[in-house]
This record gives sequence, C-alpha cells and structure tokens, in this order.
Amino acid sequence: MPVQITKLLVANRGEIAVRIFRTCRRLGIATVAVYSDADRAAMHVREADEAVHIGAAPAAESYLRTDAILAAAAETGADAIHPGYGFLSENAAFAEAVLAAGLAWLGPPPAAIRSMGPKDEAKRIAEEAGVPVLPGYRGEAQDIGTLTKAAENVGYPLLIKAVAGGGGRGIRQVSRAADLQAELTSAVREAESSFGDGRVMLEKLIERPRHIEVQVFGDQHGNVVHLFERDCSLQRRRQKVIEEAPAPGMPDAVRKAMTDAAVKLAKAVGYQGAGTVEFIVDGSKPLGPDTFWFLEMNTRLQVEHPVTEAITGTDLVEWQLIVASGGKLPLKQKDIKLTGHAFEARICAEDPAEGFRPGAGLILEFGLLEEPDGETLRWDSGFDSGDRIPSSYDSMIAKLIVHGETREAALQRLTDVLAHTQLCGVPANTGFLRRCALSGEFQSGTHHVNWIGENLDALAAVPEIHRTAALGAVAAVLLDDEGAVSPWDLHDGFRLNAAPRRAIQLAADGAAQLFDAGQPLPEEAPFPLVTDLSPRRFAVTCGGDTFLVTIPEFSADADAALGGNVVKAPMPGKVLSVLAKAGAQVTRGETLAVLEAMKMEHALTAPRDGVIEAIHASAGQQVAEGDVLVMLVEE
Ligand code: ADP
Ligand code: ADP
Ligand code: MG
Repeated sequence: MPVQITKLLVANRGEIAVRIFRTCRRLGIATVAVYSDADRAAMHVREADEAVHIGAAPAAESYLRTDAILAAAAETGADAIHPGYGFLSENAAFAEAVLAAGLAWLGPPPAAIRSMGPKDEAKRIAEEAGVPVLPGYRGEAQDIGTLTKAAENVGYPLLIKAVAGGGGRGIRQVSRAADLQAELTSAVREAESSFGDGRVMLEKLIERPRHIEVQVFGDQHGNVVHLFERDCSLQRRRQKVIEEAPAPGMPDAVRKAMTDAAVKLAKAVGYQGAGTVEFIVDGSKPLGPDTFWFLEMNTRLQVEHPVTEAITGTDLVEWQLIVASGGKLPLKQKDIKLTGHAFEARICAEDPAEGFRPGAGLILEFGLLEEPDGETLRWDSGFDSGDRIPSSYDSMIAKLIVHGETREAALQRLTDVLAHTQLCGVPANTGFLRRCALSGEFQSGTHHVNWIGENLDALAAVPEIHRTAALGAVAAVLLDDEGAVSPWDLHDGFRLNAAPRRAIQLAADGAAQLFDAGQPLPEEAPFPLVTDLSPRRFAVTCGGDTFLVTIPEFSADADAALGGNVVKAPMPGKVLSVLAKAGAQVTRGETLAVLEAMKMEHALTAPRDGVIEAIHASAGQQVAEGDVLVMLVEE
C-alpha cells in the first residue's frame, strides 16, 4: 500500500540523525528530532525542523523509550520513524509499536528482525537456506556439562558468543578446555548485563579472519538486490575501525558466491529495507568460494553504509524512504554498478595512548582543512566546534568518507585528509587512524581482524616528532607575531659564539616545557596545522595527532604538570569502587578508584607518591566532571 511520507522522526542522535535529515531536506520531507537532557543543544536538534525532549540522559530513560518516542511523533504529526543504528533499531517490539500506531517504519518487517536477531536462530535459517555456516554449538541446553561436550566436538580454539550479542560484546576466545568454565562465566555475565539474555553459543575460531559483509535491500514487492560488499577487517576488539568497499583482492567468482548467498538469505526471511549480511572469511588464504561463512545479519542501516553509497552512487536513506512508502527498489540488480573504491574512518573521541579511554566535554576545534565536496570527500558528523560530547553515549562522533578511482587513490586521499583532521579539547583517534591507514598491511590489503591487536603499541603511540613539530609551529607563530605575546613568555637568550636564541615556555596537552624557538621543525614530521584559539591557546595538528598548545602562566601550570595532589573525575560517571584508604601510602600510578563512564571502566590513579589525606567518593556515587574524589599529601 503506497503511503506518502511527509514528516520523518528520527529516533536517534549524533551523526546518523544528522545524515538522515540531510536526505530528508533534499527530498522536501519535514524532520523531527528527539533528544535527551544531555542533547538539548546537540547538532541533530539544531538541524531538525522540530525537536521534542523525550527524557533524561541515560538511554533507557530517553532514546530507548517507545512511549516517549511515539508521543513525540503524535505531537508533531510525524508520519514515519527512522531508528538509525543502535538504540531501538533492531528491536522488533518497537517496530511493531510504530506500525501499530499507523506510522511508516524505516526498517525491515518485525518478523525479519525477530528471525535474524538471535545469532543461533539466524544461523539455523542460513543453514536451511544453503548458506555456509561455521561448525558450532547452537543448542538450547546451557549447562556446563553439555557445553563442555559441545566444545570438544567443535574443537579448540573456539569462540563463545552471546546469542543476543552485538557491537562485539559477549564474545570470548577459548584456547583450551581448562579455560572454558571461566570464559563462559565472564561471557554470560557480560551478555546478561548488556543484552538481558545470558544464553551463549559456541563457534569454531578462524585464526586469521577477515570480515566481509554484503549490503542487501528488499522492497514490499518481493524484490531483493545486493549493493556489493564491504571489507571491515580493520577492527579493534571486534569493533570496526576503518571500512572499505569493495573488498581488496575480491575475485568476481567469490563476489558472486557471497552476494548470491546474502540475497538468498534475505529472501528466506522476507527481508525488506536495508540489511547487511556479515561473513567471516579465512584470511590465511586467497579469497575462494569455500573460505567464507555466515556470521550474522544486521537488520538496519549500518554505520559504514556510506562506502557503499560512494561506490554505487546511491542514497540508501532515500531507498529506505521509497521502500517504506511501498515503492519499488529504484534500481534493478543489473543496473547497480560498482565505481571506484571508498573508505570510511570512524572518528572517535577516545585516547589510543590511554587504552582508548573515551573523553567527554567541550570540543574546542573540530573540522577538516578543506571543504568536503560530497564526491571524493564526505564528512558525516554529529558535532561541531563548540559542541559538548556527553558522557552518556558512545564516543563515535563523526565519519570521514573518501572515494577515488582506485584503492590507491582513495587510500592516499584518506591519509592526506586524516593528517589534517583537527579534533581538539577532547581526545581523538585521528592519528591512530592515519597510522593504521599508512601501514604496509593496510596499504596492501593483507591486514586481518587481529592485526591491530598484534601491533597496538606502535599504532597507539603518538610519535614524539609530532609533538615537537606542534610546539615548533606555535613557537614560529609567536615569533612572527610577538605583539600577541606577553613579554614574560619570550626569553632573550645569549650564548657565547652563537646567535642569540629564545626559549618559549609552552605546554602540549598540559605538559609544560621550555621550547627552543629557533630550532628547525623535524623534517620527517608532516606539516603542522595551527588554529589560534586565543587567548594563549592553539590547536595544532601534526600527522593527525592534535595537541592543545598553551602558553602557561608559569608557576601554577608548571606545578600541575608535575601531577598535583588531587584526583578528579575526568568526566561525569558512576564510582564503581574506591580502593584508596585514608592514611595509606600510595605510589604514583597506583589505582585509587574506578569510575564507570561512556560504557567503560576507568582507573583513576595517584598523580604522585604520597599519603591519602581524604576520600570524597564512595562506590555507587554519581559524580560530575572535575569533582575531587581523592586528596593526597606529600610524605
Ligand atoms: P555496524 O555493524 O553498523 O558497524 P556496530 O556493531 O558498530 O555497527 O554497532 C553500531 C552501534 O550499535 C554501536 O553504537 C553499538 O554499540 C550498537 N549496537 C550494535 N549492536 C547492538 C545490540 N545488539 N544492542 C545494543 N547496541 C548495539
Ligand atoms: P557482533 O554482533 O558483536 O558484531 P559478530 O558475530 O558479528 O558479533 O562478530 C564480531 C566480530 O568478531 C567479527 O567481525 C569478527 O571480527 C570476529 N569473529 C566473529 N566470529 C568469529 C570466528 N568464528 N572466528 C574468528 N573471529 C570471529
Ligand atoms: Mg557483527
């Protein structure tokens, strides 16, 4: 039954909401945003025609509330709902409630979500449809006796997977029988807390896996097509980092086998709308028709859908709108053409050098050096300079998408743009992304899912020459423009038998040092990009690593750089445990308390050797950014 969508509500936030609104604007469809307390001033709220407040910051009290979202749709007269990804996007009950309210649903039929939701059920259906599936245990019985026996049949090494899992959570690798029990306990605990369902399955482990997935699309008239594959093998902890399309080294025959399998599975469950069929591939040999197995189906628009749009010249949100309105797929299979190569890098506010700790707070500067043209360079962001990243949601804040005629050209563009992507004020993974993209393995397309983990130290560390070049660039700016600097900041130097030299007191990310302003920039360092955030502050990006360079007020900042006497909450969160004991002696680096924020645990450590003077936090307590949790005194 064709319906006319005139006003769309997006039950999501961040870059995906902004991206969906962009298509709506082009098509003349009115837009409605919903937002939580934490997102009152968010970009997705600013970009929408109307916005409705739906509750408190925790997702369970806002973005996961069916009642509040449907009320917002009724109040604004929206006639359709797009769930984005994450949140309620793969929740069949939500899809049913949307349809029952008489609204168009920009997702697959609830029955398809139900059959592809649990990983065990999805694999049973795939097997029946003749799609290759890895050997494993997918039974109802979950007792340790059954699982131990099943594990022996599957063989070690194997993976335990949460049946209800997603986002890489609830997965554990087991290398030998002796570890099974402990890993099971931990997988079940994570599955219960993340998905409210502790059931697990077992699966044979592929040792050098690649992840390749197929974009499928169905309409209400029984048509199903594919839009080629994406390679998402660059992962950290089973989460995607950079994705590309098509997959490097993909022979036509394997592409045909894989896309055929994906379309067959989509047809088997009566699929409509956008979906992704994920495959695990044995990366230890060249791609062959018997080296891939079905992993799971994601019944939504995926984070990495833009690389598919880039190589097929489509707008998949427009397709979703057409399908949800009862229209036919805009293209027949034979008319969907693959052009060039595309990459997507996920920009996250997280610090690779600190175990990828996510950061919340004010973004001082965020952007690219050049204006995206929408063709070779696309920028999907949910945040701008001056926005605040809330601590209640995840740390992915934008996506950089490049498209070129060849893989080499697109990859060159990716590393060039990453070198000049500036994110300052919060930690950023852009330098890490660039180092991944520049690696020999990624350049040759021989990386695999475990590759980042095996090379983490080299990829995560910020090269010292980037920091030196950043400081040097600011020193050069200050010397060019001394009027802007207080006379205290420049020290005329006099050296025997040498030209006078001047040292400038500068701090990169809070660490103060005296910098020789006359020294040349390290030649091996990429050219630094300086943005003046006056007064006395600069955002400097070198090789994708951004530093907040400040001209410190001498004594106070120098003392802080040594590590003060207070341990503060770096972001709002919940105190999980307090290990510090009043009066106890501690050494620098010792964990004093553990904070939970942004879906992660953070160890708060002693900034220096000393004695605990006072403790201002207790387990279970909610704290704000900057709250003092523990105080030290020097011995
Ligand atoms: P994609 O496969 O599209 O790259 P991800 O697996 O990275 O998607 O997940 C996208 C978002 O959805 C992330 O925010 C992730 O935390 C969330 N997510 C994925 N699966 C689930 C799930 N089953 N339950 C809750 N959140 C999920
Ligand atoms: P999720 O729903 O959390 O995305 P998946 O089943 O899609 O769970 O697996 C996530 C990732 O874990 C895959 O992209 C892959 O990197 C890795 N993985 C999954 N199954 C296997 C396997 N059998 N062997 C090796 N790695 C695997
Ligand atoms: Mg997956």
